[in-house]
Amino acid sequence: MFNNLSDKLDKALHVLKGHGSITEVNVAETLKEVRRALLDADVNFKIAKEFTVRVKEKALGQDVLTTLQPGQLMVKLVKDELTELMGGDAEGINLSGNPSVILMSGLQGSGKTTFSGKLANYLKNKKTKKPLLVACDVYRPAAIDQLHVVGDQIGVEVFSDKGNNDPVAISKAGIAHAKANGHNVVIIDTAGRLAVDEAMMTEISNIHKAIEPQETLFVVDSMTGQDAVNTAKAFNDILNFDGVILTKLDGDTRGGAAISIKSVVNKPIKFIGTGEKMEAIDVFYPSRMADRILG
Ligand code: GDP
Repeated sequence: MFNNLSDKLDKALHVLKGHGSITEVNVAETLKEVRRALLDADVNFKIAKEFTVRVKEKALGQDVLTTLQPGQLMVKLVKDELTELMGGDAEGINLSGNPSVILMSGLQGSGKTTFSGKLANYLKNKKTKKPLLVACDVYRPAAIDQLHVVGDQIGVEVFSDKGNNDPVAISKAGIAHAKANGHNVVIIDTAGRLAVDEAMMTEISNIHKAIEPQETLFVVDSMTGQDAVNTAKAFNDILNFDGVILTKLDGDTRGGAAISIKSVVNKPIKFIGTGEKMEAIDVFYPSRMADRILG
């Protein structure tokens, strides 16, 4: 994960290791390389620039820990800044409703159906939760079948209504089914298109308004870099979602989406997907991710 970025940051920060003190010149030299590493990782230009400006201010400012060597100090400042950029403290999902309704949004292929299964499995393993999966992709019958396969695999019931082409009606019926059958979490998997279009936005917005979910999650393929960030912005403008799910981190060597998305939409990354299997789900902890990036 993020190997390219880790290697480049390591090289950039290495510059300071042999120096006895922090100076304007060696800080500038190091941060130029840090910025280049961030841009190569597909981090947005403005974010990369602001990042290095903040690190520079701290490095040259009064509030530095003078007991650290310049190299160590810079690693710490970059790590702190990365953590901050990715979201500070980890945030959970709101499960206060009965049932708690979780709406999945995102483009086709982003990993919504897979993640819906992973989340259902994750919650089911918490023992106090009895999830229901609801299939609302009315355009692709294969997507409904796929959710059933996932549900069978993890032993979670799937509600679907093949032939019904009204996703609002299906999601409402799914919630009613959950209430009648003692499910305390409902995860609604919706249709996605290959790109943001008006019809999709209207549809997801109508579902959102009709069911008023406790939690609306936006699922995005982390390998799509700045596109992921732009798509997040489009969905957030319509849905004002609660959190981001970054999938396919196992294949992402660059990390630009993970680093930029929080500061663009101001919503936390809540979970990550790290593989195709149902167990490949992790809570997103910004500080752990920063540790991983900097090795
Ligand atoms: P949807 O169209 O948004 O519902 O996307 P799917 O859930 O069908 O996922 C699209 C493809 O991405 C499938 O082949 C999944 O197996 C794969 N996929 C989903 N999440 C991950 C992940 O975290 N890592 C990897 N490597 N593949 C994933």
